[in-house]
Amino acid sequence: MNREDPTVYLVIPCYNEEEVLPETVHRLTDKLEAMREAGLANGHSRMLLVDDGSKDKTWELITRFNQENPYVEGVKLAHNRGHQNALLCGLMTAMPRCDCAISLDADLQDDVDALDQFVQKYKEGCDVVYGVRNKRDTDTWFKRTTAEGFYKVMKLLGVDVVFNHADYRLMSRRALEGLSEYREVNLFLRGMVPLIGYRSDYVYYDRHERFAGESKYPLKKMIALALDGISSFSVKPLKLISNFGVIVSVLSVFGLLYALVSYFAGWAVSGWTAIVCSIWLLGGLQMLCLGVVGGYIGKIYNEVKARPRYRVEEYLQNEGGERQS
Ligand code: UDP
Ligand code: MG
Repeated sequence: MNREDPTVYLVIPCYNEEEVLPETVHRLTDKLEAMREAGLANGHSRMLLVDDGSKDKTWELITRFNQENPYVEGVKLAHNRGHQNALLCGLMTAMPRCDCAISLDADLQDDVDALDQFVQKYKEGCDVVYGVRNKRDTDTWFKRTTAEGFYKVMKLLGVDVVFNHADYRLMSRRALEGLSEYREVNLFLRGMVPLIGYRSDYVYYDRHERFAGESKYPLKKMIALALDGISSFSVKPLKLISNFGVIVSVLSVFGLLYALVSYFAGWAVSGWTAIVCSIWLLGGLQMLCLGVVGGYIGKIYNEVKARPRYRVEEYLQNEGGERQS
């Protein structure tokens, strides 16, 4: 691995991003050029745009940029597999060709100027560099509270995640090789990367607003990612359920005693409300618990099938080397 003058790959998953792509490619081209001049990235550095089965003109744009711009490479997935899978595909495609890869979003909400610091840390010997957001004032109140709540719940459940770190991250080639050995299908990359080990560090940056287009992460996908994160990395919910079962059983012993006492005391008739309430309450709780257990079983089902996580339809390389103009 070359730490002196590294080949840096910027890996960017794109789903229906035709509105932002031209600007993104433009800014990243300037950035890569500046990094080259500053000795942070060599001439083989590229941006790798992963088209996650977009329905708009994203792939047409990527193909065009690939022909016109020596810095642009593209991978087309055969269908939409979601952000995490698209990102993994990009990282795995970049792995044999780069010294380190940095993942970032197509909308450039993550400050591009922080890229220098990432590579700097890599040069100093880090294998993983996490981008951490300074503050969240460009987010809506709702997104901020739910996101921060999520990190706290993860911590409580014993999952090792970096607070306020999304997927803006540098990984060296050997860290990527480490990642490639994790075969799981339920992907939650920010939980997996800390498991790889190696020396790591943080870069702090401000997050901007999306400059065009809409968020491709609606509430539904956010909740799905959060639940995936929790159930892929923690079995505590299962323990909580068992503890809860114990508590309810203990309580029901008291209930039983109370019922017996009432029976012998002769005031047993008017127990209807209590019975109906407990039936509904316990019924609901049981279903909830079954749901949680079922969720884990569903995951086992998916892992056992071990289906491919993504399928590459096309890879447009770029051997362009020196940029003309
Ligand atoms: N994305 C993707 N596949 C999807 C959804 C999103 O590759 O199914 C990409 C998207 O193009 C973007 C990144 O994931 O580059 C983050 O999405 P977005 O910016 O919409 O999320 P937000 O910043 O609102 O959380
Ligand atoms: Mg975004």
